[in-house]
Amino acid sequence: MIIMKTGATQEQVDNVLREIAKFGFRGDVSQGEYKTIIGLIGDERKAPFDHFAALPGVKEAIPVETPYKLISREYTKVFKDPSVDKQIKVGQVTIGGSKPVYIAGPCAVESKDQLLRIAEGVKKAGAHILRGGVFKPRSSVHSFQGLGAKDWKNAEEALKWLQDAGAAFEMPVVTEVRGENQVDLIAEYVDILQIGARNMYDQDLLMAVGRKKKPVLFKRHFGAGIEEFLSFAEYIAAENNKNIIMCERGIIPMGKGKSYTRYVLDLGSVPAIKKETYLPVIVDPSHALGRSDLIFNMSCASIAAGAVGLMIEVHYDPAEALVDGAQSILPAELERTIKACNSIHAVVNQPRSKK
Ligand code: PEP
Ligand code: MN
Repeated sequence: MIIMKTGATQEQVDNVLREIAKFGFRGDVSQGEYKTIIGLIGDERKAPFDHFAALPGVKEAIPVETPYKLISREYTKVFKDPSVDKQIKVGQVTIGGSKPVYIAGPCAVESKDQLLRIAEGVKKAGAHILRGGVFKPRSSVHSFQGLGAKDWKNAEEALKWLQDAGAAFEMPVVTEVRGENQVDLIAEYVDILQIGARNMYDQDLLMAVGRKKKPVLFKRHFGAGIEEFLSFAEYIAAENNKNIIMCERGIIPMGKGKSYTRYVLDLGSVPAIKKETYLPVIVDPSHALGRSDLIFNMSCASIAAGAVGLMIEVHYDPAEALVDGAQSILPAELERTIKACNSIHAVVNQPRSKK
């Protein structure tokens, strides 16, 4: 990390960028009101920090030991209050603002009518962002893979329905990008690109999605530690895209016998991740629990744990849903959940008295 002197000129910043490039580094430039810091991206073992520190306009050049830094609170400490959280604006919606944000919709886009009907239901229930999978990451190749799997024309049609449903009900839309070859197509139609749990470790996909400069909803792999989750988010940030929404969605259960939930919702991770990064953290209770009857309580618990939003699967006829019906709730249940969560959010986020 290279900290420029107060009042360093653009020319000096450019000179540092040229100089670090000679040693094989890219620079992530963050501009504060008075200060500029440049994060080095590359193999730090080769970094001649003394040389960089001696360049004109440079105040300090210091190694940062953590595997993630561009997204760390530590990184912003130099020029702003590190307790300030990042807000991500998508259309009229602010993720990480004063109110919790609800992302809802079907697990999979099944038809135009299905999507419009669910979009209307979730909007009325109080949701802000519409979700719907077009390329589904299924465990079996014999299961429905999402409409996108058939061919490119189908994928485009389903993505257009998503875009239209979002426009009709004034909600930005999000869908999962499962492979690098899907990035360009999906980015044309949606506002937020989702990286599913199974792809958390796909560096090439993360970089390709990061380069699109659209917000990324980034899910934790079910076997990933928190530090790993943060380290892989850094791959997106290193493409000069810090609009990353961190999403806890449960980790693998332990022990013998039935678990009764699909995964273990790791709610301790929510405040723990928020200590490390300024990025907004949301929870997806649907995939964590796999059961519609537990969504209400665990949504409330997620907001109490400090989540700035939730992602919830909704269907008007869960029994008939092509994917994840068992965990899908009805729009009326979403409305009840949102109301309760808003009350809990207000209690948990009361300003602290200065006494
Ligand atoms: C999803 O949100 O559609 C999904 C498949 O979730 P996850 O990647 O968390 O399993
Ligand atoms: Mn699902």
